[in-house]
This record gives sequence, C-alpha cells and structure tokens, in this order.
Amino acid sequence: MRILKFGGSSISTPDRVRHVAGIIAREAEQNNVGIVVSAFGGITDLLIEAADAAAIGDDRYRVIARELRERHESAAEELAGAEGLVAVRSKIDAILDEFDDRLHGISLVGECSLRTRDSVLSCGERLSSILVAAALEAKGVAAEACDARNLILTDSNYGNARVDFEVSFERINAHFAEAERVQIVTGFISRDKDSETTTLGRGGSDFTAALLGAALSASSVEIWTDVDGVMSADPRLVTQAFSLPSLSYDELMELSHFGAKVVYPPTVRPARTHHIPLLIRNTLNPGFSGTRIVERSEGNGHPVRGISSINDIALLRLEGDGMVGVPGIAKRLFGALARREISVVLISQASSEHSICFAVEPASVESARIGVEAEFELERRDGFVNDLVIEKDFSVIAVVGEAMSQIPGIAGKVFSVLGENGVNVRAIAQGSSELNISLVVDRRQEARALNAIHDAFFPELAPSAAGRAAASKIPVAILGATGTVGQRMIAWLEDHPWFTVKEVIASEASAGKRYRDAVRWLLPTAMPPDVGDLVVQTLDASVKSPLVLSALDASLAGPVEPELAANGHLVVSNAGAHRMRADVPLLIPEVNPDHLGLIEKQPYQKGAIVTNPNCSTIGLVLALKPLADAFGLGSINVVTMQAASGAGFPGVSSLELIDNLVPFIGGEEEKLESEARKILGRFDGHCIDTADITVSAQCNRVAVLDGHTVCVSLGLQSEANSNDIIEAWSSFSGQPQHLGLPSAPLKPLIYDHSPLAPQPRLHRLAGRGMAVTIGRLRPCAILGHKFVLVSHNTIRGAAGGAILAAEMSVAQSVVAGLAPPAKVEN
Ligand code: NAP
Repeated sequence: MRILKFGGSSISTPDRVRHVAGIIAREAEQNNVGIVVSAFGGITDLLIEAADAAAIGDDRYRVIARELRERHESAAEELAGAEGLVAVRSKIDAILDEFDDRLHGISLVGECSLRTRDSVLSCGERLSSILVAAALEAKGVAAEACDARNLILTDSNYGNARVDFEVSFERINAHFAEAERVQIVTGFISRDKDSETTTLGRGGSDFTAALLGAALSASSVEIWTDVDGVMSADPRLVTQAFSLPSLSYDELMELSHFGAKVVYPPTVRPARTHHIPLLIRNTLNPGFSGTRIVERSEGNGHPVRGISSINDIALLRLEGDGMVGVPGIAKRLFGALARREISVVLISQASSEHSICFAVEPASVESARIGVEAEFELERRDGFVNDLVIEKDFSVIAVVGEAMSQIPGIAGKVFSVLGENGVNVRAIAQGSSELNISLVVDRRQEARALNAIHDAFFPELAPSAAGRAAASKIPVAILGATGTVGQRMIAWLEDHPWFTVKEVIASEASAGKRYRDAVRWLLPTAMPPDVGDLVVQTLDASVKSPLVLSALDASLAGPVEPELAANGHLVVSNAGAHRMRADVPLLIPEVNPDHLGLIEKQPYQKGAIVTNPNCSTIGLVLALKPLADAFGLGSINVVTMQAASGAGFPGVSSLELIDNLVPFIGGEEEKLESEARKILGRFDGHCIDTADITVSAQCNRVAVLDGHTVCVSLGLQSEANSNDIIEAWSSFSGQPQHLGLPSAPLKPLIYDHSPLAPQPRLHRLAGRGMAVTIGRLRPCAILGHKFVLVSHNTIRGAAGGAILAAEMSVAQSVVAGLAPPAKVEN
C-alpha cells in the first residue's frame, strides 16, 4: 500500500484535477494506493474569509458562498462523467447547503467559535474529495470519497487537535480492509468523541497521509506538491540549487523550520515511528523521483545537505551589567516571551552573560518588548539591565547536514566564505549536535550569503565565471508579470547584467501555473526559457527579491507597493498610484536623477518607492528638458495619438479602434498636465518646487500597435532659432549615459530631418525603444515653435523606463545593500 497526498495547488483547477486523476490512475494500476486530498487551491482561505465576514455581520459572506457554489458546481460539470453527475451534484449541494446554514448561524450569533470554524473548514476537503473521486470514476477507475472524520479520532482542541492514535489506527484498518474502490480521503479533518468536527492544524493533510501510512504499514507516504522535492536551497535565490535525492527526518525538520516548507512538520512523527519513507514528488513533473526522507539519508559525499533561510526576522538583545553571573535571567526572559506565546526562532548568548540575543518574527516584536520590559522593570529602573535593543530586517540562514558533526572545520568554512564575500554575520547559534549552524545576516545580503555557502559546499556545482556573474545579479520580482508591461520587462531583463527575474506575480487566475502556461505572450521575441519555468504567484506570496518592478494597475499598486517598501524592497512602479506623492521621486533618469534624494523622506526603514511617469509624459519631458535648460519654457500645448498597447491587454476592442480614433483616455490628460511640472521641478533637499509651466493636453487613442506620437506647440522664454533648438536636443545626455547604465540609450533624443518623420512604425525602436525621435520642428503662429515626437510606450514609456529608473536607483545606492554587482573575473 502507498499513500499519495495531493495539496491544494495540485488540484486548483479542473484541468489540474484531471491531471492528478491521471497520475492516480497510473499509480493505481501498479499498486494498492490510498489517496489524501486537501481542499482545492485557495478554498480554505475563502472559507475562513466567509466565516470571519459572517461573524461581523458583513454580507460579503453571501458573495463568497455563491462563488464557492459556482466554482464547485462548474468543477462537477467538468469532471464528473454524464452518468455520475446527478449523484455528485447532490452530494456537493448537500455540503454547500450545510455551509450556507453554518454561515447564517454565525451571522445570527455574531461569533465564530473555533468549533464552528473547524466545521466550516471541513467543507473544503469534503468537496474536493468528492470531485477528485468523480474525476477518477470518469476515467474508469473505481474510486470513492472517504470522510476522514469517520476514521480519525482526536481530542477537542479545535483548530489543532491531538490524535488518538490507537482508536484511529483501528478505524483506518477496519475501513481499508473493507474498501474495494480507491479511497479518496479528506485531509486535515477529524472528529472528537462527541462527534464534533475537529482539524489537525494548517497543513494537516500531510499529517492525515502520514497517519494512514502508519496505520496501514504503507511502503511509502508520498506528498505530491508543485516543486521537485526538497531543494538544497531556495531556487529563487540560489541559481545552482538542486533537488535532494534523500534526506533524514531530522534534516527535513531542520530545513522546514528555517523556511523549506515542503512538508508539514508533525507529519514526520508517525512516519519516523513506523519507519515509513516520506517521498516528496512534483505533480507538474511526475516522472521525477523527488526527495526520499528516511531515518538515515544516503550520503552523497557532502557534509552539508541543504541551506535554508527565513527572510524577515527581528533581532532583539537584552543586555546590562546586572546580568553577569546572575542565575535565572534566561529563565525569566524566555518565560516572559512564553507567557505571551512568542515563538523564538534563534537564541545566542555570549559566555560573559552580559547579553542575550534572540530572534523573533517582526509581528511579535512589540509584544516581546512589552513582556520583557515588564519582567525586568526593577532591574531597568536601577540601571542593571538596559532597554531591549530591537533591530529589524534580518535573515536567518541555517546550514543543515547530519554528517557535519563528523567533519572538523565546517563552521570555520561557513564563516570564512561569508567574510570573503563581504557578508557581515550578526549572530550565531549552533546546537551541540552540529546538525544545524544558524546565523543571522542583513536581509539584503541573504541571497549573496546563500550563494556563497552553496558554492563553497557544492564546489562541483559552483558556477563558471559566467555562472558566478549570474549568481551575483540582483533578484527581481515582477508584479503584473503576465500583462503588456510585465512581458516587456521580462524580455528586457533577459541577459541583463545587473538584474535577474526570480519571481513572477499575477492574478489568482494565473497563479500556480508555469509562467509559459499562464501568459499570452504577445512579443515577437521568444520568451526567456528560465522565466517560462517559474511558477506564477499571487500578491499574497511573500516576495523575496530585493528589487520589485511593478506593472500593476493603480488600484492594486496603491496598497501593495507601500507594504513592499515597508518590508525593505526597492519598488519601481509603473502605476499612477504614488507618482504625485510628495516623498516619491517621479523619475526620468536623464532629467531629474537628483529627485532620488526624496527617498530619505519616505517612512520606510530600508525599502523605497520610485515611480516611472506616464508613458506619454516620458517622451514629452525628455524633449522639453534641454529646452527648459537652454531657453526656459513658456506655455505648452500637446496633442497625443496613443498606441493601443497603452491600454493593456486586451485593452480597446478592435471594433472601436480600426478605421477610427477615440478622443478620450481616462485620466491621461490630467497626468500629462501635472506630471511634467513635478519632473521638471527643483529639488531643494527637502521637497520638489514644481516647475512654473502650463501644459494643456488632448489625448487620443489610435489604431497603432506600439509607439505614442505627441504633437507639441510651445513658447520659450528666450529667443531661439531652429538650429539652436535642434542642437540642444542633439547634444543632450544625462547621468545614465555618463554612468553607462545598462539600459541607457547612447543618445536619448534623436532629431530626424525627414519631412515624414517621426512615425511610430519607423521610429519607435530607436535606441532599442529607449530613445525619443523628434521631427518637423517649425514655427507656431500662436506659441512660437511646434514639433512632433515618437516614443515607445511599453519600452521607454513603461518597462524599459522603469528598468532604467531601477538601474539609476541601484547605482545611487538609494537602498542599503543594493548595489550594482561587481564584475566577475575569470
Ligand atoms: P495589463 O496588460 O492589463 O496587465 C495587468 C497585469 O496585472 C497582469 O499581469 C495581470 O495578471 C495582473 N493582475 C491583475 N489583477 C491582479 C491581482 N489581483 N493580483 C496580481 N496581479 C494582478 O496592464 P499593463 O498595460 O501591463 O499595465 C500595467 C500598469 O502599467 C498599469 O498601472 C498601467 O497604467 C501602467 N502602464 C502601462 C503602459 C502601457 O503602455 N501599457 C505604459 C505605462 C504605464 P493576469 O494576467 O493574471 O490577469
């Protein structure tokens, strides 16, 4: 007997359920199998949201309930064969009706107890098990859903119940002895002795699988997820990370504690006690053998097995002369933390006993401070103990391997390699078992530290000079990666010398898929294959990359970007949400690089927000800047003809645009009129004194694919003839050109003397799409001068412009720890 467990991301859509049913069908042909399933991807969160909404009388719970019903009913239509559909529908309707009743009850009493919450949550797994069984039946495999509440008995500790192993094992054995069909068992849920529903803790489906495996003396328990087993390090941060063929239970526990959350830790106990191997397999790559977890892992010649990390922790330090040689200080300190239910990630104490340093999650910092200061109130008053020192934005790195204890010098090697790579270690902890060496580094140096340690302990995988250069690049997350601008960013960053795309984020509809399957790739160049392999995440995922390029809609960017900046990321945004904020640079690197000084005024400790102007504004202001410097600007009138790609995808319908022009683009005229004044304004070290110019704009959408055309009429404050103006444009360059930034065009402005220039089709790709082409300079009877310019809206006006802004920000080190990678010598 083998037990196979499939998590929510493996069964997030009907397509994925069918794919999983195919895997189960193949496995069931060769072996006796028992299947455990989680709720469909995202459903448990929705159930919690609905219960919370009902408890506070928020009617949104009805909307969520409707959404759940629609999603499961349409999955039933897609998955169940014609013969089984009526029966499947009636089963899922019964569960959904019960769910509606529960929510109604919660809304009436205005409260959702843990007991009620468990019963609400149980609906997710009960529904998915019925639908997975239906998909198997439709494939001709005899299968049936099994409600684990009839098998697993627990105490009444709702939310995290403890299992009665003896009774549960008996029931499991009795049930499986009778079962003739493949059992699709609900993960996560159970019952107490009063027949009330209980749950086994978040991630408890893994535990259910281990319980079944232990009870049935299975030959293996397989956790099917969407990664290639347990990796030697986080592949988003370490380019050379590889799948570990084997691990011991202890190594798995250490790696999972420090971030490698592939298996729910309590799963290990029943597996270990009953000597059952755990296998971590990938539903997206079923041919791959994955990672095998056993009592003693098979050695592979490396003392270090894996390196994991937690990328956001706070370091707290209690110190004082009154602590030296005084017994019981540590007991009181950790007792105070325990009373407030604060979990301590790492502890380190110098032998002088003058200070104790410990790490906690940032959310626990305030509670820890209050608890510790109250505990040591008397000592603090008398000056024996100082105020708790709190520092944030650190990462804990754990170097894990059972064989480390038999080989001298492992710790020495870790620290010397970090020293050679300029990584400062702030705290160290090592248990006497030497299974795990943990160290705390600045969060910004996490990727560098992980790569340096990985290269040192897996030298045969250590990259060549080219690979080292790749590893030293700054990891980038793209928000809105599947959209028009996101795609351009991904294409532009292929082979970028400083940045490398490690995370791609889009909406729920794309999440969980490989990027290549989620995106409708619209560019003429091929998709970079390594990005195609990345799994798309939602905004809920914790972003690891220090640099975030945002191509989100303004409504999403509004709340998300400040949160990321507060978490220490440098966010470069294309959205309009923060452009006009007084403390946010609206940057065109050739025009106003000094505006990056505004970042000091931002409320974030380490991160920052930098914005890229509106796509038409960028071309316009680049053309205005040399004229402003040489002659001074008067009034400016602009008429734009903007490309269809500026409206995102699918944007404006072809029926609206072909043979037509749409003389309105929401908010665009206001942006052109206000943004130019901020960008051309003077930064006095505190704020921007906006430029004293008047811009009047009229914006039109035209049937051009890419490239915005802007017709400009303007007055100048001092006399200038055409030659003077053309010379000002032609000789213009800025800091990006002087610094040789990777995305800077050689010449940002090109004047074309042809009477037919500029045209979007001919000129949008000037300077790889980063230069603005100007033409048709001539007298204007009203304002003095007029001309036409073309700039690429999704390159210079969005993706390329944002990347150049990111390069400028990194070159100026606006965020601590983010600097251009050093050139790698051969
Ligand atoms: P788009 O083609 O419509 O793309 C929108 C992107 O946002 C998609 O990747 C989409 O993912 C993602 N998304 C939607 N809802 C989401 C959610 N709830 N969570 C996470 N991601 C979500 O738009 P675009 O043209 O690329 O424009 C993006 C931003 O850049 C906008 O603020 C726009 O004003 C600005 N901008 C655009 C241009 C231009 O020329 N296009 C120029 C300058 C600035 P799914 O594919 O999964 O839906």
